[in-house]
Amino acid sequence: MDYFNYKNGTLFAENVSIENIADQVGTPVYIYSKATFKDHLLKIQRAYSRLDTTICYSVKACGNINILKFMAEAGSGFDIVSGGELYRVLQAGGDPSQTVFAGVGKTDPEIQEALDADIGYFNIESEAELENLIRLAGQQGKRPKVALRVNPDVDYKTHAFLRTGKKETKFGVDIERAVKVFADYGDNPAVNLCAVHVHLGTGGKKIDPYVEAVEKILPLVDRLRGQGHTVEALDLGGGYGADYESGSVPSATEYAAGIVPLLKDKKIKLILEPGKSICANAGIMLTRVLYIKRGGSKKFVIVDAGMNDLIRPSLYDAFHFIWPAKVDDKFVPEKRNKDLQMDGAEVVDVVGPICEGADFFAKDRILPPTKRGDLLSVFTAGAYGFTMSSNYNARGRAVEVLVDGENFSVIRKRETYEDLTALEK
Ligand SMILES: *Cc1c(COP(=O)(O)O)cnc(C)c1O
Repeated sequence: MDYFNYKNGTLFAENVSIENIADQVGTPVYIYSKATFKDHLLKIQRAYSRLDTTICYSVKACGNINILKFMAEAGSGFDIVSGGELYRVLQAGGDPSQTVFAGVGKTDPEIQEALDADIGYFNIESEAELENLIRLAGQQGKRPKVALRVNPDVDYKTHAFLRTGKKETKFGVDIERAVKVFADYGDNPAVNLCAVHVHLGTGGKKIDPYVEAVEKILPLVDRLRGQGHTVEALDLGGGYGADYESGSVPSATEYAAGIVPLLKDKKIKLILEPGKSICANAGIMLTRVLYIKRGGSKKFVIVDAGMNDLIRPSLYDAFHFIWPAKVDDKFVPEKRNKDLQMDGAEVVDVVGPICEGADFFAKDRILPPTKRGDLLSVFTAGAYGFTMSSNYNARGRAVEVLVDGENFSVIRKRETYEDLTALEK
């Protein structure tokens, strides 16, 4: 559920007309709905309220500091994967003690910054990384909390690039090795190894892999506790589904219904790292049609946004529902689905201006007839949209706008030509 809806054929973000935003800030533009972010967060908070739960919103999914700020105010912690993301969290006034730091390749400066900030947990992916943390923590006289990333070897059905919970990945250690790591480091004076972290991947649409992961991890927790180790928290990572198509994924309540009963009596804190399930449909990318072109049997709608602005279709073959910001009544979509049928619609490719065959947003997609100057909304673009954007083809990154009720504000300016060369002197 989100707050991007058509009223009399015109698309609104909450109570602001999308056209109005485009007129004032230009295109392409990322438009976020604050109410949608907060609504998703609240639903997760409620769904897991029977457990001691910390929600650590994944900064890499959509990390503008203005967004992190209201998320922190609404009670969210943060999941970070770099020193830059830690900097963002601190700039936004986020609580470092509610911050968890994941990633297979943390550098020494990044680890030192996180030690300085007294973050909640270092999510450690290998013995080598743990050794390094022990060395650096010793130098700073800190004793950080550590969660060991364990790979439960469950098959999370998604694009191969997005799967991280199988044995053959660079992420985490397997269950047998986890026992050894706790045996070797469980009472290390320089670090407090006291939690287990799991992150299965992203882009799945089912609850089962989570249930299966918890069912595989709980015996490990029991075993570790039986050996005298403390396991105070289970971090279940992120990857909960987002509605790229209407109603296609389980709700927070449905995930919780599978997960909470398993953990209820385990005296364990739960940490969740949702990214796209919070921010994906909290944002759209708005782009303007430049040209219509025919090529063979195809019709191309060429727009002013490119793969540098939103790379998910090119990178993952991701589906984004695309629809004009203004349509006749008969073209108001009831659902945002792949298999939408509509009389009078055309089948087109929506492509960008970049010199790459991979620069497309949709192929063989139905769209109401469009012409030069029309605005198209690329829906569910809040996650891994702006954060994965680049300056390829010397294109300034898009402007970001936050809508709150009747109002909107620019939360990141459009990059200028000067910005593009500023560091090249
Ligand atoms: C990317 C990532 C997340 C967030 O994934 P979503 O699919 O956006 O929910 C959470 N935890 C870790 C460790 C990640 O790498």
